[in-house]
Amino acid sequence: MLWVNRYYRAGMIPRIPARDDTPAWQRLLARSITDPAELLRRLRLDPALLPAARAAAARFRLRVTLPWLARIRPGDPHDPLLRQVLPLGEELAPQPPGFGPDPVGDLAAGRAPGLLHKYHGRALLITTGACAIHCRYCFRRHYPYGEHNAAAALDDSLAYLRRRPDIEEVILSGGDPLMLGDARLAALLDALEALPHLRRLRLHSRLPVVLPQRVTPTLVARLAASRLAAVLVIHANHPREIDDSVTEAMQALNRAGVRLFNQSVLLRGVNDDVDSLAELSERLFDIGVQPYYLHLLDPVAGAAHFEVPEAEARALHAALAARLPGYLLPRLAREQAGAPAKTLLGA
Ligand SMILES: *Cc1c(COP(=O)(O)O)cnc(C)c1O
Ligand code: SF4
Repeated sequence: MLWVNRYYRAGMIPRIPARDDTPAWQRLLARSITDPAELLRRLRLDPALLPAARAAAARFRLRVTLPWLARIRPGDPHDPLLRQVLPLGEELAPQPPGFGPDPVGDLAAGRAPGLLHKYHGRALLITTGACAIHCRYCFRRHYPYGEHNAAAALDDSLAYLRRRPDIEEVILSGGDPLMLGDARLAALLDALEALPHLRRLRLHSRLPVVLPQRVTPTLVARLAASRLAAVLVIHANHPREIDDSVTEAMQALNRAGVRLFNQSVLLRGVNDDVDSLAELSERLFDIGVQPYYLHLLDPVAGAAHFEVPEAEARALHAALAARLPGYLLPRLAREQAGAPAKTLLGA
């Protein structure tokens, strides 16, 4: 970085730490907002929201990336992006029957620490407990990552996969698998590619939306080079989540031949209207992403205020079907513990 020193000596740019090879996305991630007071201040929101935000964040921490923050409308407590991340007093209220800590039977599906095998031909690896943002409706907000996490016991997961030639697809999940650095991810891919019966590698990640800088050329090149067909399922709930930086990240992945899908969760006060859902599908199409699932909320304790009742969800989905070409209609689905697949509802 000789040129840097030259310019620094000339007083033109601030000094950067010597040999800081932390990737830009990790530096950006480190500047994420975790203090409720700072979130309210930066968005010019009513400080009266603070005590409840603090109390709810003590149970499940606040976490917001700067690119996400930049897409929130300042001063609007009902902003659909804000609602996904702002801790509220409702999270601490008594929850309706059926809302619990393990809503989809993940713990019963564990076959090795951090490996879930629920569905035919597909196994899911919990690669990390970390996420770039904390979604208040997260179905794994109570998941015991410490004990069930493949990073700690990858050999056990690989041994299970080796014994099961019927598994054709491995799904990297979490937490968020793209929180792993490029080197760790590459090592994991090396190990998976060595299993001859695997055909597909799928990643479920929110990072391409909440921190699109994560989609580095190294990552794109590694996915493109894999012998496994690469599938990426992103997670956007509202059209305003998609900005130019998300578009660029998707274009790079698209050019590399990664198949791109989106899943959303139907959330009260975020996307429970036909206009938002239709525009989301249109925006996804614009950036080369295929709408896949629209999930009913998993009944996780602390998220009941996000619930849209099933009858209303079906009506919304029918209205959406009447608006969009069939290929832009996400499948309305719910996850039922013990079922052989996601349960499809509606049109
Ligand atoms: C949702 C899920 C899958 C993937 O299901 P698809 O219908 O193929 O998207 C696989 N394994 C587990 C444990 C899941 O929860
Ligand atoms: S990114 Fe996914 S796993 Fe992480 S908090 Fe959000 S919903 Fe939960």
